[in-house]
Amino acid sequence: MTEPFTFDSTIPRIVFGVGSISKVSEELGRLGCGRALVLSTPQQEHDARALASALGRLSVAVFSRAVMHTPVDVTTEALSMFDGSGADCVVSLGGGSTIGLGKAIAFRNNAPQLVVATTYAGSEVTPILGQTEHGIKTTIRASSVLPKTVIYDPELTFGLPVPMSVTSGLNAMAHAIEGLYAQDRNPIASLMAMEGIAALHKALPAIVSSPRSPVARAEALYGSSLCGVVLGAVGMSLHHKLCHTLGGTFDLPHAETHAILLPHTVAFTEQAVPELLAPVARLFSSPRAGTGLHDFALSLGAPMRLRDLGVTADDLDRATALAVSNPYWTPRPLEAGGVRALLQDAWEGVRPS
Ligand code: NAD
Repeated sequence: MTEPFTFDSTIPRIVFGVGSISKVSEELGRLGCGRALVLSTPQQEHDARALASALGRLSVAVFSRAVMHTPVDVTTEALSMFDGSGADCVVSLGGGSTIGLGKAIAFRNNAPQLVVATTYAGSEVTPILGQTEHGIKTTIRASSVLPKTVIYDPELTFGLPVPMSVTSGLNAMAHAIEGLYAQDRNPIASLMAMEGIAALHKALPAIVSSPRSPVARAEALYGSSLCGVVLGAVGMSLHHKLCHTLGGTFDLPHAETHAILLPHTVAFTEQAVPELLAPVARLFSSPRAGTGLHDFALSLGAPMRLRDLGVTADDLDRATALAVSNPYWTPRPLEAGGVRALLQDAWEGVRPS
């Protein structure tokens, strides 16, 4: 019998398909917007300018200085361009960094956001904003930061480099996997989680061998979108908290940190709730989900060792102390010895036992 549950999630309007970038004007019209500030990172400025030019008078300015972890001083600069240009909405073209900037603007002025998502991070479908001030990253959950419309055009991801596609895809899987053992897990979120993991499990190897495959790119975006919905719908635990702590303290790249830690956080948690992770183990044709994820990541050429990100052996004690200093709910209670051993394994990149 299905146990009682609550599923509480709002998701943006989603427009999905090859060529859907051409629908940005129409979608802005639906939102009642006519003066867009287009956002991107410096690396995607060319695409942002091309979009702005295709939008013609629907675009009033381009701000192309989005960076990872959404520093508040960059948001202040972008807000001043928003006000100065008379914009009435933002169009964020990019991954989590650009989307984070759009959300940070919306958090301050309620601007409607249209997102053209180009990585698998999943931020475009969550009401979560992480931002950094004075070196400290804090996370806010607010309905005002949830984008109104998301466009997924697989063609825009053909050029996402394979290493980034792999780590970003594993980052997406991490959302869904933590959703399976969340304290507020429920059958609807778990259904989306397994569908998302399965789509990425199929798509990522195909992207590694054929990065411009429209089929594989579409499947990966579909999977990552579902994983993102799970991230927004239920609470995350050890894996996300550890990535947040390590990423913030040692200034590590977001997707790579997720990719490296995932097999180890899953193996750690699996000892407490093997039944909740059994569907993942089955999907990976492995006796356990943690080992299955390790083998999968290795087969994709993903980064496997924290030491390769510049973390030193000495940092691991500090990371352990930070990880256990701020207790939060996890399926397996945290104690320093277990977390230290997990981090050691991730540092060396060994196959979790
Ligand atoms: P990113 O947005 O920083 O992108 C990485 C690099 O790849 C950038 O230089 C970007 O311009 C480039 N890029 C993106 N798409 C591309 C494409 N299709 N082709 C070529 N280059 C492309 O990386 P990310 O991992 O997507 O986002 C990380 C950030 O998102 C972090 O700050 C993280 O905290 C945040 N995040 C937030 C949430 C949330 O719900 N709030 C969820 C996930 C991630």
